[in-house]
Amino acid sequence: MHASILRILVLASALPALGQNIIYETAFDSDLGWTLQGNDQASWAVDGAPAIYRSPPFSLNFNDGVEIGGPCCISAGTADSPVIDLSNVSGATTLRFRCWYETEDTCAHDVREVQISNDGFATTLFEHCFDGECAYQSWHRHDLPLDPAWGAISVRFAFDTVDNMWNGGRGWFIDDLLVRECAVPSSFCLAAPNSAGAGGALMGYTGTNVVSLNNLRLHATGCPPNQFALFIYSAGQAQTPLGDGFLCLTSPIHRLYPLAQTGGGTPSHVLDLGSPPSAAGQISPGETWNFQCWYRDPAAGVAGFNLSDGLGVAFCP
Ligand SMILES: [Zn+2]
Repeated sequence: MHASILRILVLASALPALGQNIIYETAFDSDLGWTLQGNDQASWAVDGAPAIYRSPPFSLNFNDGVEIGGPCCISAGTADSPVIDLSNVSGATTLRFRCWYETEDTCAHDVREVQISNDGFATTLFEHCFDGECAYQSWHRHDLPLDPAWGAISVRFAFDTVDNMWNGGRGWFIDDLLVRECAVPSSFCLAAPNSAGAGGALMGYTGTNVVSLNNLRLHATGCPPNQFALFIYSAGQAQTPLGDGFLCLTSPIHRLYPLAQTGGGTPSHVLDLGSPPSAAGQISPGETWNFQCWYRDPAAGVAGFNLSDGLGVAFCP
């Protein structure tokens, strides 16, 4: 099948399950679109020799069918993905793949590296050598953030034995590779005027809504300075008058302690998905949660407190 036809089929099946769009995926049932290189001793291949894979029948692997080259020589090679176009991507984007290895585990002796380029690897935008961080002889997962500003990228797996010692291992195996985009968080509900301005306080964020990266930092802008604030969240959306503004959440409401300080007007909270305030507040992939910031505003008037608008976040795996 022609590569462009396969790409259209991949895009057509990109249903927004789990709040994400699949941009590229392969289970390495074939080497279609991949450029595989090695030397006389060993090479990258998509095959079942040796028969180590996460999804049958094949994986992408570096060896000579048995081992990574034996005691005679130095072996090295690269496996380059087809072009993966991120130009039209707007949400948090990640590369996920599964990894299994039987080589030396430090970059000083056996280099196992992933690289990203958008110019055919004349230059690299990102490179990382797995240095003692992978589980040995056990399938495990890697998640790497990708920057959509990189445009049309290619992913490279590079292996190098560096020396001719300890080259009897079965090699490095990659399977079930996926590039996907997580849905962009969206604002809802109303930000009522406060003592700092007519626009009220607006929810925002840095980091991503990718659960496996666990790096979402919530903030609110436009709060009155030097007051206490509290970030809260719920499963549902509402718009109910409360204080000087509106409650945008439904019961039950989960509170993210400790209390934040508005400081210059921008309180923030690092959301640790591993430590929810209660079991009922556990955030899991595929779920949508709604966030809001409550803050004190004694200078404004009667109630003494107000709330930001809401931020709806669909969390991806
Ligand atoms: Zn690994």
